[in-house]
Amino acid sequence: MTTRLTISDSDAMEAFGARLAGLLAAGDLVVLDGPLGAGKTTLTRGLGAALGARGAVTSPTFVLAREHPTASGVPLVHVDAYRLPTARELDDLDLDYAGSIVVVEWGAGRLDGVAESWIDVAIARDRADDARDVLVTGHGPRWAALDATLATLAG
Ligand code: ADP
Ligand code: MG
Repeated sequence: MTTRLTISDSDAMEAFGARLAGLLAAGDLVVLDGPLGAGKTTLTRGLGAALGARGAVTSPTFVLAREHPTASGVPLVHVDAYRLPTARELDDLDLDYAGSIVVVEWGAGRLDGVAESWIDVAIARDRADDARDVLVTGHGPRWAALDATLATLAG
């Protein structure tokens, strides 16, 4: 099932990231897809704030992955896969998927086989105003079991 949201501004996008953070634990993977300026980093900033992540969450474009320690001890790993042409290379980063919460910007189509379960967040900026249309889809057994919980993100 896919949950649809309309996010009116960057504060609402951070708040959405914070709500999403509330569902995440070690081993979880979130894939953010959408054009430049869609709000992927903004979402991740709100998610990181909710986790008590240390260090500024900024666009990791010039580093492939940045690890932020968090209040719970489970690190937030923020990846920019834009320049990675294949899933193979993301695999090669040797990320500790099991022990971290991993958020990948531009990860769609580049993650084949790295995880059994993950959440896709597709952000579109097709409107005349600043609002973003967001589609949230859980994949794999973990999110199949939590489908109703994912649907609460819309509220
Ligand atoms: P990306 O990481 O997808 O390239 P960023 O999060 O870095 O995008 O940038 C999004 C930009 O769009 C920010 O300057 C943010 O303030 C602005 N913005 C305006 N409206 C929204 C919205 N509804 N959701 C998210 N960001 C928004
Ligand atoms: Mg970004």
